[in-house]
Amino acid sequence: LNTQNAEFVLSAARLADCPRDSLPQIAFAGRSNVGKSSVINRLLNRKNFARVGSAPGKTTHINYFRIDRKVYFVDLPGYGYAKVSKQERARWGRLIEQWFADASLLTLGILLVDLRHKPTADDCVMAQWFKDSGKPFVVVANKQDKIKKSEWEPNLARIRETLALDAQTPVISFSAEKGLGKEELLGVILDHISA
Ligand code: GDP
Repeated sequence: LNTQNAEFVLSAARLADCPRDSLPQIAFAGRSNVGKSSVINRLLNRKNFARVGSAPGKTTHINYFRIDRKVYFVDLPGYGYAKVSKQERARWGRLIEQWFADASLLTLGILLVDLRHKPTADDCVMAQWFKDSGKPFVVVANKQDKIKKSEWEPNLARIRETLALDAQTPVISFSAEKGLGKEELLGVILDHISA
């Protein structure tokens, strides 16, 4: 997969706008500020492709990027931002619910969490959505560079336990800042698009 060849396709505000062709769709989900844009940029070796540090939770759009004309990276809107209005939260819920209800839109889910913290209730809800989709998903524990090495293993175990992951679901330590975990995550993605 030539990750240099990445293009922004569209920003979908409604389910009807989501592309549904034969390309596999890799969906990224996570709390606002977890580093979702940074992880996507890291995978693509870009600085400002997916927008980093844009007003958190401001958008309820699903952004589609096409990589090498072979696969979509689907940037699901971040959740859990405290200052979002009730209305916007409801819009988010409706869009995500509809999106998950359409099985053709998901090939592999990528749930981003923060390696420093115990996953939030929202993270658990999102994990459940991925589980219920019946599609494979992987958890990416970002911001590894922010904690001591001695905390890596216990924190990974806490993530696995809190999200009640089964043995088949990988948890990948990641640092969008340092690039750690990039090859492992790309490997998982490749496994699911060439299958
Ligand atoms: P998003 O809201 O989930 O898309 O998060 P962003 O990608 O905008 O990142 C939120 C903030 O966390 C930014 O200031 C990033 O520079 C920072 N950040 C993201 N990933 C990492 C990481 O792995 N390590 C560190 N130290 N900072 C990170």
